[in-house]
Amino acid sequence: METSILSGLEASKALYSSLEDRIAELKKHNIVPGLAAVLVGNNPASEIYVRNKTKKFEALGLKTELYRLNENVSDEELLSLIDKLNSDSKFHGILVQLPLPKHINSEKVLNMIAPIKDVDGFHPENAGLLSIGKPRFIPCTPKGMMYILKYFNIDLDGKHVVVIGRSNIVGRPISILASLKELGNATVTLCHSGTKDLKYYSKQADVLVAALGSPEFVDASYIKEGACLLDVGINRIERDGKSKIVGDVNQKSVMGKASSLTPVPKGVGPMTIAMLVENTVLSAELLLN
Ligand code: NAP
Repeated sequence: METSILSGLEASKALYSSLEDRIAELKKHNIVPGLAAVLVGNNPASEIYVRNKTKKFEALGLKTELYRLNENVSDEELLSLIDKLNSDSKFHGILVQLPLPKHINSEKVLNMIAPIKDVDGFHPENAGLLSIGKPRFIPCTPKGMMYILKYFNIDLDGKHVVVIGRSNIVGRPISILASLKELGNATVTLCHSGTKDLKYYSKQADVLVAALGSPEFVDASYIKEGACLLDVGINRIERDGKSKIVGDVNQKSVMGKASSLTPVPKGVGPMTIAMLVENTVLSAELLLN
């Protein structure tokens, strides 16, 4: 079987081009969608993530401002910055780059972001809206995965979606999205580290989501012939003396058995950034309506 590559890069370009009209419409009302990005400490990976995100905003002529805070910032200082950003009308979205240093109460910080500016979709109010089937801001990675499926005409209706990983930012929300009648209408199985005989479930998947954070974990023995694979993993490994990014799927092993897969890199990653822009545009539109 030929395995087709579901390019997130290609899908993200289609999304950006559809956003251009929406951004132009907002500009007619003198609204320029704006994102405040908060970066605490000097984590090199976080630096790269934030730079890639803000670069996209700049390229589209949107507002973005980076707030850098020292590694030793207190909970109170960070909460007071978020309070200030919540009431700053320049910003329609607030992004706090994770992970935060260990001494900071991350949950408290994320819950402080005004739900109407929570473009990452992590606030309990937005998570609750999603779980009752009335999504407002959907976390960017699962929202991006749904877009990829739609873009490549992969219909979830009546299919069996198996998700490996139950995090609040990826696994759980994609399992809810896929199960919602209007969006996916799939039958969903959510697996995690407590799942006994993972292969029993993964081999039943028409669509398998690998979101466990384990390099090249899913090989051909985990899937059935013709499965579609969404690889969320971003794992840095050393191979042949070089540092390399790989996903949670062993791409070489599944080629020829899977019907399609998202590559790593250039798969789910670019869609995550594109959806951050989309959520920020949506936030500005919600303000207008
Ligand atoms: P996470 O919070 O660490 O969650 C991992 C989940 O996988 C947990 O639910 C864990 O189970 C489960 N798990 C771990 N090992 C397992 C195993 N052997 N069998 C079955 N389940 C297992 O990770 P995350 O934040 O969801 O991220 C997952 C991966 O996606 C990471 O590589 C991350 O870097 C990547 N990621 C990529 C993007 C993107 O834009 N492409 C965005 C976000 C994350 P328990 O709940 O029982 O611990």
